[in-house]
Amino acid sequence: MPRHVLVLGGTAEARRLAAALVAHPAHAAGFRVTTSLAGRTARPEAVPGEVRTGGFGGAEGLARWLRAHRVDALVDATHPFAASITAHAARAAAAAGVPAVVLRRPGWRPVPGDRWYDVPSLAAAAEALAGPGGRVFLTTGRLGLAAFAHLTDRHFLVRSVERPDPPLPPHTEVLLARGPFTVDGERELLRAHRIDVLVTKDSGGEATAAKLTAARELGLPVVVVRRPALPAGVTAVPDVTAVLRWLDPVTAGQGCGAADTCP
Ligand code: NAP
Repeated sequence: MPRHVLVLGGTAEARRLAAALVAHPAHAAGFRVTTSLAGRTARPEAVPGEVRTGGFGGAEGLARWLRAHRVDALVDATHPFAASITAHAARAAAAAGVPAVVLRRPGWRPVPGDRWYDVPSLAAAAEALAGPGGRVFLTTGRLGLAAFAHLTDRHFLVRSVERPDPPLPPHTEVLLARGPFTVDGERELLRAHRIDVLVTKDSGGEATAAKLTAARELGLPVVVVRRPALPAGVTAVPDVTAVLRWLDPVTAGQGCGAADTCP
């Protein structure tokens, strides 16, 4: 019977993990990898292996899917801010008795010269911007921008992969772009748009970190929306290599001795 790994995706790490699993010697011997996408992006980047798209119908739906498709291990490689699916995955894996791990890239940390202001939510970020005037570079993605819609005195440059849905602040320019971005490009963008403050989620990773370096170089303040907490009791690892190590007993089709950390 082939072993089956379900990767909850929507991130660069999930694509890298799927590529590594498809290239794994055990794949040729018959183990399967399926990546699940939420279906939010009209033209998602290609993912190696099998792909399914769309919600499962909550934790119960995901638990049913795990059982019906005989999943041997679940890797939650979703974005650090995709809190609902991460909570559902933890509950579903426990209910279906499927070993699970969360691939969570480390968050960003400030270095000397950074002027960061940590906030717990998009609403709190909007509150932090409530003073008069100024030009804001908003890089928190296309969802949740309604939190800023009441800020009528500020000019916003919103960058996202796909066009954000209204409501948006009245003075908003939208820039459609997909990372990775370079420090030179980000510095030029901040200068060209005369940006006074940057707003970002603590997404972590390399692809979108250049804006932080550029803001530091230009002495700009950065409002950083901190991550939601992981559900209690989940096993989290920081990168694809650590997931492969965790998955080793599955890909090798062997049993596992260390019950709390491997499938
Ligand atoms: P979310 O709020 O945690 O999830 C909302 C619902 O979308 C979930 O309850 C689930 O529906 C469905 N869903 C989410 N991820 C899924 C997946 N990989 N496969 C199947 N269904 C999924 O998530 P979100 O913040 O809207 O993000 C959606 C997707 O975009 C995630 O896969 C995430 O990795 C990616 N993404 C998110 C961000 C971000 O900033 N939030 C940034 C980049 C990429 P059901 O309850 O019906 O199962």
